[in-house]
Amino acid sequence: MNDRIKKLLEDLNDLDHDMAAITYTESLLGFDSMTTASKDGVSARSEVISFVSTLYFNTLINPRVDRLLKELSDVYNELDDLSKAKYNYFRREYEKISPIPVKEYADYQSLLVESSNAWEEAKNANDFSIFAPYLKKVIDTTKRFIDHRGYEGHPYNTLLNDYEPGVTVDMLDGFFEELKASIVPLVQRIQEKPKPNTSFLSNTFSIDEQEAFSLYIMESLGFRMDGGSLSESEHPFTQNMSPDDVRITTHFHENDLINPIFSTIHETGHGLYEQNISKSIGFSCLATGVSMGIHESQSRLYENNFGRNPAFWQAHMPKLKELFPNELKDISIQDFIRATNKVEPSLIRIDADEVTYPLHIMVRYELEKMLMEEDVDIQELPKLWADKYEQYVGVRPTTEAEGILQDVHWSEGLMGYFPSYALGSAYAAQFEHAMEKELSVDECLKHGDMKTLLDWLAHHIHQYGSTITPSEIIQRATGEAFNPKYFTDYLVKKYSLLYGLKE
Ligand code: ZN
Repeated sequence: MNDRIKKLLEDLNDLDHDMAAITYTESLLGFDSMTTASKDGVSARSEVISFVSTLYFNTLINPRVDRLLKELSDVYNELDDLSKAKYNYFRREYEKISPIPVKEYADYQSLLVESSNAWEEAKNANDFSIFAPYLKKVIDTTKRFIDHRGYEGHPYNTLLNDYEPGVTVDMLDGFFEELKASIVPLVQRIQEKPKPNTSFLSNTFSIDEQEAFSLYIMESLGFRMDGGSLSESEHPFTQNMSPDDVRITTHFHENDLINPIFSTIHETGHGLYEQNISKSIGFSCLATGVSMGIHESQSRLYENNFGRNPAFWQAHMPKLKELFPNELKDISIQDFIRATNKVEPSLIRIDADEVTYPLHIMVRYELEKMLMEEDVDIQELPKLWADKYEQYVGVRPTTEAEGILQDVHWSEGLMGYFPSYALGSAYAAQFEHAMEKELSVDECLKHGDMKTLLDWLAHHIHQYGSTITPSEIIQRATGEAFNPKYFTDYLVKKYSLLYGLKE
């Protein structure tokens, strides 16, 4: 390697180091404000958050980095794989922010703070008109940013690419068409069958025992307790500082056994991904999950494919019954599984079951795509939302809080983010199908052998962190490109069995 390349790589690694340290600080601040930070401390906290986000911007967007990236692109073919991955990562980040004038970027950050507040107020008051003017500004700014940044094919592609690199409107149109064709009739057939008994799930379940079960299940799944932690927050989430410090949260309810358990399993799936990223990547911006969709594939694989499988509960029901001997006295694994896989069209996305969930995403996908390609009258949005719910999910919201105001995402400028959730479930089914060629998932689950499953995932997916793209991960792990058929096949097979339908 010549001296020039050596110097360029030193500069690249310095940039990576500084950006990783800033990102770490942002994560820590984010985790703190969602968990233990005091309510009154918000003003000093936002000073620090704003200082750190300016630092992020200035460290990345400057003539020195611009020159570095240009010079690296001239010698790209001579770089090793990890350096290529770092270059690609920073070029993407740079191209995302640098075309936007500094003043517009700063104004947008302030707008997002205001719009989040307006959304919260609107949701509490069940009144979309409070949020509408802010939403209009967020949408207008997003479209202006797309103009600055440019796009290929469809303007929405630029946003999709921020969360799931490589995904396009063309691909998602096909994906959702496929889902619509198989899920809508599946839901209808399920609706004709008797509903499972779920009444025992809302007995009173002590929080201490629930917490004991959460810790037990995290460890059983292979989460390294010395490399992370479990806390409580209003909405469960996972925040990674590094692969050796992965913090997950859950939320316990005394009259709900199921949501806390499956939230913990879901977040542990995210956590295992982060914990098993290869140490060889080092302290780097690449030492984290590669995309929203791949991340969600891991959490959903654990939550739905493993956790809502009867074989899994052969290994873990004894522990649950030991903690809740009276509450679950006459409940069999079959009762438990039928109750935890109950399918029912509903209004709220985060409470939706595995089958109807993608339909909630389809509504948001179609609306976001429409908002990016035409001038939609903001006042029309609640009705458009309700119409699509009625058409796809089969239920119509009667309030705005249960309709268009239910998600925080748009108020935070997160457009293009929702499709990753549905892609995650679909990737999970394709990964499970690939695993099945080498091992029996049910046998592992039945015997509580989570290590064999985790080893497979760590080897084929986790270890790479962000050093290869989502589509490369899918191709290498499954031997083919993304194919939504595995997901629809999985749903039809699983739910036909559970509900006694003819396939
Ligand atoms: Zn998740």
